[in-house]
This record gives sequence, C-alpha cells and structure tokens, in this order.
Amino acid sequence: MLRQEFVFLPRDVVSLDIDQSEKEFPVNRIFCVGRNYAEHSKEMGDDPERDPPFFFCKDSSSIVKSPFDGVSEVSYPSGTNQYEYEVELVVALSKGGKNLSEASASDAIFGYAVGLDMTRRDLQTQAKEKGRPWEVGKSFDQSAPMSPIKTVQQIGRINKGNIELKVDGVTKQKSDLSCLTWSVVEVISRLSNLFELHPGDLIMTGTPENVGSVEVGEMMSASIESVGGFQVKIIK
Ligand code: MN
Repeated sequence: MLRQEFVFLPRDVVSLDIDQSEKEFPVNRIFCVGRNYAEHSKEMGDDPERDPPFFFCKDSSSIVKSPFDGVSEVSYPSGTNQYEYEVELVVALSKGGKNLSEASASDAIFGYAVGLDMTRRDLQTQAKEKGRPWEVGKSFDQSAPMSPIKTVQQIGRINKGNIELKVDGVTKQKSDLSCLTWSVVEVISRLSNLFELHPGDLIMTGTPENVGSVEVGEMMSASIESVGGFQVKIIK
C-alpha cells in the first residue's frame, strides 16, 4: 500500500513519560471532570450534592511534560488577568470501551500522574455567564502541565492520599483523594456512557477547594502522595 502523503508534516504524537520505563505513554484525548470535590463545588457557587459528574476536554497539545522533582516553565497566557491553578489526579487508560462496568473501568487503568488544569478563570467565567463553550478558558497552550505516569504495577490502584498545591512554598490547595465526590472508577464508567474510551485517554479527575491565581515569577509545586510531584515556574 502506498504511504500516505501529507501536504505538511502532521504534529508529533503527544506522550507522557512512564516512571522507571524506557517506553512512553501515547496520549489520545484529555477528558476533565468538573466539580468533583464538594468543597470546590461550594466555592464555585454550586450545590455540593452528588450531581452526576460533568465533563469537558483539553487538547492533548496543551500538555507540558513536567519531570518528577524537576522545574518546568510555562508562559503566562494571553487574554487573561486571572490565571488560576487546579491540582488534579490524572488517570491514564490503557484499555477502552463503551459502557464500562466499574470492574472493567478499574481494569482499564494503566497508571496515574499529577496534573495542573490551568485555567483562564476570567474567560471561563464569561463563557459560563453567556452560555458559551469553555475552550478559551480551559484548552489553551500549556494549560496542562503533567508529571510522568506511575503505573498500577508500581503503586497499585489509589483511592486516598494527600493532594497539594503550593505557590512559592505556601500551601494553597490541600485535600485527600478520598474526598473525590465521584471515585475514579465511577468517573471512568460514567464517561464511557458518553464516549467510547480508547487506550491513551487521560482523565483529569477534578480539583479540590482553594483554587487561586498565579503571577509571572511565581513557582507552583504540585504533588500527590504515592505518585510524586513537580514544580512549574510562571514566566513572561
Ligand atoms: Mn479542573
């Protein structure tokens, strides 16, 4: 068969490093869960009751690979005066499917990473008020710094553990994965009712309370117990 010819080179495959492995994890889509910690729902003005989870997406090109214990740089994004952090557990899938049971959802988990769902909050707020899509607030360049993946073989399936974000050494967000409104397997199962999931899909599982903004020159430190942590410096 003839090799496909493109009019210009397609973009590179986006991947995440896998801890203690030479191989990389090819990223397909990034799904994000909104409002998955009760205290964050309250601060965003929502009822913290267990409403069904809702989802939005970020483009995989927004990933900034952020090595464990390393320092990455991201540029303060255009178009905003309210650039906010959201530290989140990222779940990486190595299996897919539709309408997955919670057992099948659990079996689909390849591993976990630490992620930042960086947000142009002012643009997201305007979009919400006008009933417009969220992409400009959520799915922009460098909006998803992420650590390498720790595999299920390495750390098991995690349901609890400290999740924390610091700015210049001061703790801003601090919670526990056990406070997730919808557990990881519940999220995967629900998501698979809406989309056929595929190997390589990532799910950002939502942020705990006390989101806030960062400025040029500040350093964010994101960490999750048993996964790891990384730092991101905001540059011009
Ligand atoms: Mn988020």
